Amino acid sequence: MIWNDDFETLPREAIESLQLKRLQQTVERVYATVPFYQESFKKAGITPADIKSLADLQRLPFTLKQDMRDNYPYGLFAVPLEQIVRIHASSGTTGKPTVVGYTRRDIETWTELMARSFAAAGGNKGDVLHNAYGYGLFTGGLGAHYGAERVGASVIPMSGGNTKKQLMIMQDFGSTVLTCTPSYSLFLAEAATDEGIDIKKLKLKVGILGAEPWSETMRQEIEAKLNIKAIDIYGLSEILGPGVAIECIEAQNGLHIWEDHFIPEIINPETGEVLPVGEKGELVITTITKEGIPLIRYRTRDITRLIKEPCICGRTHARIERLSGRSDDMLIIRGVNVFPSQIESVLFNIEGVEPHYQLIVEREGNLDTLEVQVEVNEQTFSDEIKELQNMSNKIRKDIKDLLGVTCKVKLVEPKTIARSEGKAVRVIDNRKKSS
Ligand SMILES: [Zn+2]
Repeated sequence: MIWNDDFETLPREAIESLQLKRLQQTVERVYATVPFYQESFKKAGITPADIKSLADLQRLPFTLKQDMRDNYPYGLFAVPLEQIVRIHASSGTTGKPTVVGYTRRDIETWTELMARSFAAAGGNKGDVLHNAYGYGLFTGGLGAHYGAERVGASVIPMSGGNTKKQLMIMQDFGSTVLTCTPSYSLFLAEAATDEGIDIKKLKLKVGILGAEPWSETMRQEIEAKLNIKAIDIYGLSEILGPGVAIECIEAQNGLHIWEDHFIPEIINPETGEVLPVGEKGELVITTITKEGIPLIRYRTRDITRLIKEPCICGRTHARIERLSGRSDDMLIIRGVNVFPSQIESVLFNIEGVEPHYQLIVEREGNLDTLEVQVEVNEQTFSDEIKELQNMSNKIRKDIKDLLGVTCKVKLVEPKTIARSEGKAVRVIDNRKKSS
């Protein structure tokens, strides 16, 4: 179902003229109200009057996560605190969190975009949403909550953790839509089996999964294990929260980014230059309707490409390809760029491998080493040593063929690798400790 037909199917020219108008307003506003932007525009020798076309966006400087940290907590807000009705923050892996503020209209925008997203994923009135995203400073829980409520679904504000209780509620309340991280959906499936519950027989039909990169093979795994459609959702608190972009259930091929509120660009992460449509690089987003904390050319560090071809669902908004990882998560192993999702795609194509793995990177002398630890299913694990040997040889060869990196492979018993109730910990990089 298309939630907002007027906006979601706007012709391209109409989207672009709306974008230009809103961009000009945003640039004027941040120049007048946020000292950080006034300074950075002046340094770049540009004033709001210079923005005459969408192409002029490229002349504006980027905003980095570090700029948000430097202006902690409220320095980038474009309105006085009296107009802020909600504050969220994303947990920084180091030091202070990144703080974002929403005006009443920002909350309204977020609700609208999450309603569009929920509907695009196949959600509707009468659905029971089992919302296992965390509630709190993290934007996941409340973001999904408001949008589904707007559509008219019955929302269960589960939040994360307490897996046994999650399963009981899911069974007893008849949840039809699940929102959580992709890795947690698999954890739920596994826990259900342990509890003697056949999760495939529950009423669940759709999972709206995000907050970490995942591969197409992991999608197939989730769809088979839970007997649902698994839909990829994208968002980040700096820009809004969940609901910045989502796959439509009709195509499940690229995530529609709501272009009447955001302008996406793809840049070369090394040089900062804008890449032609279709090329892969870092996603940069400019918010064009946000009041509380509008961001100009925010560098997301997420790697993707833009798809502008029309989609079978009828929505006209551009799509971003499923993320291949974050430029921050990219491992450089002996000079080769490696994304955990690439290794995941190799692993999940091998019979007998379970969807739980960890990459351990060490430095021995001056040499980086990569060990891939992966769980195999009970049956495989009880096979002869020779069989296991063949399997680990195959994994090693496939990784070498795809990435050009030599690794060690360690097959481990089911449930050896620590489970997470939020984002899965895929990489343990011990080089950082020693260097
Ligand atoms: Zn579509």
